[in-house]
Amino acid sequence: MAKNPSSLSDQLKPYVAPFRIDGSREFHLKSHKTNDKGGLDKDKGEKIIEANRKRLSDFQEKLYAQDRWSLLLVFQGMDASGKDSAIKSVFDGVDPQGCEVTAFKQPSSLELDHDFLWRSAIALPQRGRIGIFNRSHYEDCLVVRVHPEILGKAKIPPQLVTKDIWRERFEDISAFERHLARNGTVILKFFLNVSKEEQRQRFLDRLEEPGKNWKFSMGDIAERALWGKYQAAYQEVIRHTSTALAPWHVVPADHKWFARVVIGSAIVAALEKLDLKFPKVDKASQQEFKQVRTALLAEGKG
Ligand code: AMP
Ligand code: MG
Repeated sequence: MAKNPSSLSDQLKPYVAPFRIDGSREFHLKSHKTNDKGGLDKDKGEKIIEANRKRLSDFQEKLYAQDRWSLLLVFQGMDASGKDSAIKSVFDGVDPQGCEVTAFKQPSSLELDHDFLWRSAIALPQRGRIGIFNRSHYEDCLVVRVHPEILGKAKIPPQLVTKDIWRERFEDISAFERHLARNGTVILKFFLNVSKEEQRQRFLDRLEEPGKNWKFSMGDIAERALWGKYQAAYQEVIRHTSTALAPWHVVPADHKWFARVVIGSAIVAALEKLDLKFPKVDKASQQEFKQVRTALLAEGKG
């Protein structure tokens, strides 16, 4: 069958395809610009963002009604890369009953009593729902890799912690995600790729604006000092865990509006491909509905 040339996915392709990493090619983080605007200006971008909100809200209703697929969205990025505000903006207008955001912080003692995928597994979206991970199981190959002492404090039997641990984690994450995909979870992963200079500006804003002070933590400065190590860890993660079933998107994040164009477009394009439809009511029920309707109308006249 010929592909509809004006499908949404085709329309949105310029804002998704250049940033999508599916493991089919070599990946170098350095070749991805942080300040790309995809040839748009902010006004045009805002129009796409707004249109995508409406589309997302419509698809979400069908996703919920159909109750077959679920959607898992993973957000990763350095401090001040805009994860929180992107989630807030892209999902503005989506029925809160249909989606759930989970923010992953330093693991609790209960979480450390389990394997590292456990807390992600119990937060996965049910069928018909959208699950948003603000940070995720990837932290166990990012912050933990940059700070090996965290691994030392975890309760993994020491003989299992070898130099192969990162390769093993990449394999296990890929297997976990493949399993989910095969069971009907659509997975999209977003790395908000911000420059070190833009992070500096955003930290300054947080320090200078009283309403933003709370967002700043001294720890953020310590992590900033390890910028190079984080970039290397992100490159490794994206190289080893990008698949067609669970692609990464390296989202240019210096311009918040453009990051939102890319994220919204990727989600909408993926949902469109599912060909979601409201469930059809069968013939017998339709007949019953007719009778009930007639009875209700008659009641009104009584
Ligand atoms: P924020 O996202 O700014 O609220 O910060 C949450 C913090 O929790 C970040 O510094 C993360 O690096 C940290 N974090 C998340 N997951 C883990 C993990 N598995 N191990 C250690 N630290 C983590
Ligand atoms: Mg923070």
